[in-house]
Amino acid sequence: MPGTLDYQENGEWPSHITEIRKTRYPIEAYTKGLDAKETQWFGGSAKIRYVYVGFIARRTKDGKHSELHFRIYQPSGQIYKTDALRKILDFSDDYGLGLLEVMGQTGGLIISMDPEKADEAIDVLRSLGTDVGDTGDTFRDFASCVGPALCEYAQYDTLAARDHYMTYEPIYNNLSNQMFPFKVKLKFSGCPMDCSRAAHRADFGFIGMWKGAPDVDENLLKSKIRKEGIKIQNLVQGCPSGAITQDGNSDGIRIDPEKCQKSMNCIRYAFPAIKPGKEKKIALLAGGNIKGRFGPKMAKPVTILDDYKDAEDFIMKIINIWEEDAPHKDRIGDTLVKLGFSKTIDSVKDTLPVEPEGTPSGQKRIINSAVLTDAERERYSVWAKKIMNEYGE
Ligand code: SF4
Repeated sequence: MPGTLDYQENGEWPSHITEIRKTRYPIEAYTKGLDAKETQWFGGSAKIRYVYVGFIARRTKDGKHSELHFRIYQPSGQIYKTDALRKILDFSDDYGLGLLEVMGQTGGLIISMDPEKADEAIDVLRSLGTDVGDTGDTFRDFASCVGPALCEYAQYDTLAARDHYMTYEPIYNNLSNQMFPFKVKLKFSGCPMDCSRAAHRADFGFIGMWKGAPDVDENLLKSKIRKEGIKIQNLVQGCPSGAITQDGNSDGIRIDPEKCQKSMNCIRYAFPAIKPGKEKKIALLAGGNIKGRFGPKMAKPVTILDDYKDAEDFIMKIINIWEEDAPHKDRIGDTLVKLGFSKTIDSVKDTLPVEPEGTPSGQKRIINSAVLTDAERERYSVWAKKIMNEYGE
């Protein structure tokens, strides 16, 4: 009968039910939810020794079950050593249902822990080299792509960059302090593919890039054209900024370094014959968010850095401005819109290398909207104009 576990288990996606039966998840609450076609869980509350954020408490409507989810800090790039992962899974078995979610960008999640054992669990978790992460109005667990650990596109060490900012003293000292108007996120992507979504979902984003045109290995490109069906025409037409032209009638291409907007299109199509350029840079962006006063917005480019550490003071100064000006639930991007992006960035420009070494002026226009369709870009631009009319500089 629809709404029962047996029905679901014999239906189209049986593995979800089969797997959940193997855990200690309160299956009765799950069945009731299926019957009622709505969740049986309500928000709850909990007191845990020395822990004020980073857990989510809930209880069932009938009051029979209550549980805690613990957010935990993850290693950079979510790359675990197997022995560390085993210890965390044992912890999840001992204090929860044996379920661990590792895909979230604001930390891992130990699912459904026993609230009665929470105080004891904290001590054990800390002995494993991690801690309860963050929820609420504070620094959230920073996210980085896998970067140079697994990806040939990486233009800087995203894992080291995240580690650096997680342990940077002014940030580290404020982890878990609920002192801000809203949450703060930092994200680190090794290249413009932006796997950590630094342009869309971070108050401060770092995106690896390079100076000038991509690097072309002409012999390898010719060989790919002959053996793998790579087409010059696709390279030329696929470049969103029209930077690529065919070199006469040959199997070669020219890329205009001033026009290249780092879309990664040619690199993805013809790698490794076409690679990111050799002179590595990092674009610093600010003000992106999904949840904020004025709705979702993409981060805007601030400057181009040679070293991710060069943004330390800038980040703390912008946070200070935001703390002073913003009402509760304004994200940093909302404050930048209200005060004026360029005006605010200009007021703290002495914290940044003003003219980063070797950066041509054309490179300062970082286009991070090439992934949008024309219709989406048009809607975004109408929406942005509306905001600027209301709160313009
Ligand atoms: S953002 Fe770039 S460097 Fe990082 S994993 Fe994605 S493709 Fe690789």
